[in-house]
Amino acid sequence: MLPAYITHPDCQKHDMGPHHPECPERIGAVNDQLLMKGLLDYMDQCDAPLATREQLVRAHSGFYLDEFAEIAQQVPDGKLVQIDPDTSINEFSYQAALRSAGALVMAVDLVAGGKAPSAFCNIRPPGHHAERSNAGGFCFFNNVAVGIRHAIAVYGVERIALIDFDVHHGNGSEDILFNDEHVLMCSIFEKNIYPFCGDVPMGKNMVNVGLPSRSGGDVFRQAVLNQWIPALEKYQPQMIFISAGFDGHREDDMGNLGLVEADYEWVTKQIMRIADRFAQGRVVSCLEGGYALSALGRSAAAHVRVLIGAD
Ligand SMILES: [Zn+2]
Repeated sequence: MLPAYITHPDCQKHDMGPHHPECPERIGAVNDQLLMKGLLDYMDQCDAPLATREQLVRAHSGFYLDEFAEIAQQVPDGKLVQIDPDTSINEFSYQAALRSAGALVMAVDLVAGGKAPSAFCNIRPPGHHAERSNAGGFCFFNNVAVGIRHAIAVYGVERIALIDFDVHHGNGSEDILFNDEHVLMCSIFEKNIYPFCGDVPMGKNMVNVGLPSRSGGDVFRQAVLNQWIPALEKYQPQMIFISAGFDGHREDDMGNLGLVEADYEWVTKQIMRIADRFAQGRVVSCLEGGYALSALGRSAAAHVRVLIGAD
């Protein structure tokens, strides 16, 4: 049984225009580093399927799904339709969004179904800013929430931890999952940047840790040890999902936390320790942010190396 690596060529066709930071090249930047470091030799490579409406509606309202499908169908070839000031779609975006959410469904089928010990989804568009009824922040479907709800609905997993270390707070995941009795969400993010929320958790199942700008790796690690780990040990998750955003890297202009590859490696080790102790090592990780291409690729490789036990 090898860990799964799930992606799809469609994820590179979604394009929000020249100079947009959430660019198609992000997928290749991650893929190239995994390949170059030999990590893909130890993973089963899988093509993401399209998520179905039945799977999406566990995380999104039917109204939103209908509305988004309708807007997506009307995008003229070669043109962009603006969804919010930072987020737009081209004629391939809907298909890419279905693949991204479908990747999480496949990851759950493999990991919860006992066919892979863990999975990493190299996907875009990202998902953690997509709320139950709103796109935004480069996100359309909340991929990780679709995966979590699939694990609950189909595999009866009762205690799931969602770990989000993207530099931005996962407001969409919080919007969908707050007060979900089967989920504990742990988020560390930079305060006072997009989406300008998270300081006050929406539900008791949320461990939100906002860090000041320029906190650096030591403060990040202390926050993980002091706030995430005790909550995770108490919760004893049966399965862990990771919203893996690498935009807290010091080379990434989107945030100012000042993290480096070693911090992503370290936090992944902490998560895997919890997973091995309580969740039979079952972890599904998916790409969220990360926009400085070189730092993104290197950080993702540091993360995946630990995730698949190749360190
Ligand atoms: Zn982000």
